[in-house]
Amino acid sequence: MVKKRVVLSAALAASLGLGSNFGFTKAAFASKISDLESKNTQIEQKKADLKHHLQEKDQKLNELKDQQSKLAKEIKAIDMAAQDAELKIAEKQKQMKETNEKIENLKKEIKVIQKRIQERNEVLKERARALQQSGGSASYIDVLLGAESFSDFIDRATAVTALVNADKTILDEQKKDEEKLENNRKEVEKELDRLTGMVQDLKDLTARLNAKRTEKDSLMKQLAKEQKDVENDKLSLQEEQELLASQQSAIQQAIQSEKNRKKEAAQAPQPTGNEHSVQSASQGPMPEVSSGAFTRPAAGVISSEFGARGSEFHEGIDIANSGSNVPIVAAASGVVIRSYYSTSYGNCIFISHSINGKVFTTVYAHMSARLVQSGHVSKGQVIGYMGSTGQSTGQHLHFEIHEGPWTPDKRYAVNPRKYINF
Ligand SMILES: [Zn+2]
Repeated sequence: MVKKRVVLSAALAASLGLGSNFGFTKAAFASKISDLESKNTQIEQKKADLKHHLQEKDQKLNELKDQQSKLAKEIKAIDMAAQDAELKIAEKQKQMKETNEKIENLKKEIKVIQKRIQERNEVLKERARALQQSGGSASYIDVLLGAESFSDFIDRATAVTALVNADKTILDEQKKDEEKLENNRKEVEKELDRLTGMVQDLKDLTARLNAKRTEKDSLMKQLAKEQKDVENDKLSLQEEQELLASQQSAIQQAIQSEKNRKKEAAQAPQPTGNEHSVQSASQGPMPEVSSGAFTRPAAGVISSEFGARGSEFHEGIDIANSGSNVPIVAAASGVVIRSYYSTSYGNCIFISHSINGKVFTTVYAHMSARLVQSGHVSKGQVIGYMGSTGQSTGQHLHFEIHEGPWTPDKRYAVNPRKYINF
C-alpha cells in the first residue's frame, strides 16, 4: 500500500503538472492564477471521478455482502439437512441393532422348537416301539388286528386313536409354532433389509450434502477474497482522494498568495513609506534562471564582493542595476520567513530553504518594494524590486546566503559564489 501510494503520488503530480515549484513561471499574475485555477479544476474533475469510483466499490461491496449472506443461509440449510441425516442414520442403526437382536432371538426360539419337535418325534418313535413290543407287531394296525374281541378292538382302537390324535395335535402345534417363527424371522429380515437400504440412502444424502457444503465453502472463500480486493481498491482510492485534497489545498493556498501578491503589487506606496511604485508593465530585466538549487537573484553587475571591506566584513554580495522595477527573484524555492522594513536592510525578505535535507537562509535587502509577505516561493519567482532603502548609497541588491538559519552575528554566512555563478 505504501509503495502504491508513492507511485500514485508521483503519477498524480505528473498528470497535474505539479512539480516542487507548482510549475510557476515568470508569467504575469493573471496567467499564474488561471493556471492554478485550471489545475484546481482538473483536481475537482479527478475528485469527482474518484467519488464515482468509490461509489462503484461501495456498490460492489454491498453486492458481495448480499451474496455472502445468501450463501451463509444456504450453508446453514445444508448443515441442518446434514445434521438431520446424521440423526436419522443413528436412529436407523439403532433400529437395525434391535432388529438383529430380534432375528437372533427368533433363531434361538426356532432352534428350541426344532429341538422339541425332534424330541417329540423320538418320544413317538419310542411309543411305537413299545406298542410293537407289547402287541408283537410293527404298527398301530397290528395292535388293532391283535384284538381278541370286538370290545377289546374298540378299547384298543379308542386308545390308539386318542394316542395318535394327541401326538398329532402336539406335532401340528409345534410345526405351526415353527412356521410362525420362521415367518416372523422372514419379516424381521425384510425389516432389516429395509433399514439397511434406508441407512444407505441417508449415507448417500450425507455424501451429497458434504459435496455441496465443500462447493459452497469454496464459493464463500472466493467471495471473501473478492471483498478484500474491493476493500483494498477502496482504500487506495481513499488515499488518492486524501492526496488530491492536500494538493488542492496547496493549490488554493498558492492561488490565495498569488492574489495577495497581486493586490500588494497594485498597492502603492509600500507600507515602508518608500515612494517606489510598482508597474509590472515597465518591469526591468529578469535574471536568467540557472539550473541547480540556486539561481542568480537579480540581473546586474557585481558592485561589491563577499569578504573584508575596509574595517568591515561584507557578509553578502551586491548586485547593482539601473532603471526602475528591476526584478529580484527567489534564489531557490522555499518559504518566506520575514518580509519587513529594517533600518539597516531597508525593505528586506528572508527566505528559508530546505535543500537535500539541509537548511539555508537567503536575504534580499534594500528593495524598493516587497511582493511577498509569507508562504511558499519558487526558485526564480519575483519577490520584489531593486532599490536603495535602508543604509544604502545607490540602487543595488544586497544578497546573503547562510548555510543554516540567519543569526544576528551572521556566523553561517558564506560567499554566494559558492552556490551561484555570477
Ligand atoms: Zn551589500
